[in-house]
Amino acid sequence: MKISLCKHLFPLTVGRDGVTPGDCRGCGLTWTDGQAELERQAERIRLATARDGNCEHCAKRVTVFQFQREQQSWDEAEPPLLWLCQHCWSRAAITVEQEEAAFADTFGQIGEGPLARLVGGLR
Ligand SMILES: [Zn+2]
Ligand SMILES: [Zn+2]
Repeated sequence: MKISLCKHLFPLTVGRDGVTPGDCRGCGLTWTDGQAELERQAERIRLATARDGNCEHCAKRVTVFQFQREQQSWDEAEPPLLWLCQHCWSRAAITVEQEEAAFADTFGQIGEGPLARLVGGLR
């Protein structure tokens, strides 16, 4: 597998449809591929940190995975790190997506979490 050493810098274009990230200035990677790569890295960390323990949600003794919601603009502090079983982990991930979508609806912002954060950081 090819490992990119590029730090990736996605130029943002502000247009009528909002802010669109373009391809990486360094290596030409597209924004979508960049997000997929981040997702794969997160997946590797998740699997690497999996251990036997008790799920903090359903208290089952199983293999638990680290779960941490990414900090959102409405969070005052960094969200807590949780250890969840596979089932609760998936449910938590879905809840986060729904929260992000609801937030985006309410404020008419871009629905994509990472992009919304990026845009928020530029202000
Ligand atoms: Zn790059
Ligand atoms: Zn559980």
